[in-house]
Amino acid sequence: MARIVISEFMDERAVAQLEAAHEVLYDPKLVGDAARLRAEAATADALVVRNLTQVRGELLAALTRCKVVGRLGVGLDNIDVPACEAKGMKVIPATGANALSVAEYVIASTMLLLRGAFASSAAVAAGEWPRAALGNGRETAGQVLGIIGFGSIGQMTARLAQGLGMQVIAYDAMLPPGADVFAQTGVRQVGLDELIAGADAVTLHVPLVDTTRGLFNAARIAQMKKGAVLVNTSRGHIVDIEAVGAALRAGRLGGAAIDVFDVEPFPASTSLRDCPNLLLTPHISGVSAQSNERVSFMIADKVLESLN
Ligand code: NAD
Repeated sequence: MARIVISEFMDERAVAQLEAAHEVLYDPKLVGDAARLRAEAATADALVVRNLTQVRGELLAALTRCKVVGRLGVGLDNIDVPACEAKGMKVIPATGANALSVAEYVIASTMLLLRGAFASSAAVAAGEWPRAALGNGRETAGQVLGIIGFGSIGQMTARLAQGLGMQVIAYDAMLPPGADVFAQTGVRQVGLDELIAGADAVTLHVPLVDTTRGLFNAARIAQMKKGAVLVNTSRGHIVDIEAVGAALRAGRLGGAAIDVFDVEPFPASTSLRDCPNLLLTPHISGVSAQSNERVSFMIADKVLESLN
């Protein structure tokens, strides 16, 4: 029997599946207690994490008998993958299992931001009637959606957007010109500059790596079409959030939905308070009842397979 340590939240039925075969420590708060996490890691044969547990440095050193790290999600920027592999540990992400949740978040927030009419509850309840001010919102159909990073979430987002009648263009630094996936999905492949200049809505679906860190800085935001909206569900360090706030206040950017931050949980920020047409969510786009179940069972199955 092996010992499995789970340091962040996981669907409890998937935890039970692991418990049926192995000894399991399931403590969704363990990630917040670094010393206890290191002590538990020392006797773990498998470690299961989400995005907060940093599997590197002292924690990695403590994992002396671990064979597998299961990641309840997709981005691997919280795991030193080469160092894990050098120690003979397999790293398993839940590839594709939360793509639909992220794609639906992108579409929902894009529609809200383009229309710009949904933040009126307080005004209407207070007896104001801001109908004239809200009458210039945009329909989604016919707008150009620019997708940066055309992997599993990017492609799922394209499919939903096409269903709404959006024109979809995409840029992916790792795909050669004319890659089959573009013809297969009916999406026009473009360069990064053309995408940024031509899209009414831009959404980011790239991993956080050296070449994407700082990709959406003030200069790139300034190249966007006036009034375009920006959605970031990829990783915080890819978009400069202060530059987003400044562009919203200046009226250059028409709206933004930001789900991921340089530091999470995000510390209070006065500069983002009262920014027009800004949606902030706590790294939740990939987490829904259904995706949590899919992600958790996928990782439970793969961890069990690796331990057998
Ligand atoms: P994926 O690996 O299927 O796709 C990523 C795509 O980005 C690939 O096609 C790759 O070729 C491309 N790419 C890599 N470097 C690039 C660059 N410099 N410029 C343009 N494209 C580049 O991954 P995915 O499942 O689509 O997820 C994408 C990212 O979304 C993850 O790495 C993760 O950081 C983030 N994510 C966030 C949430 C959330 O809840 N907010 C959930 C899931 C994933």
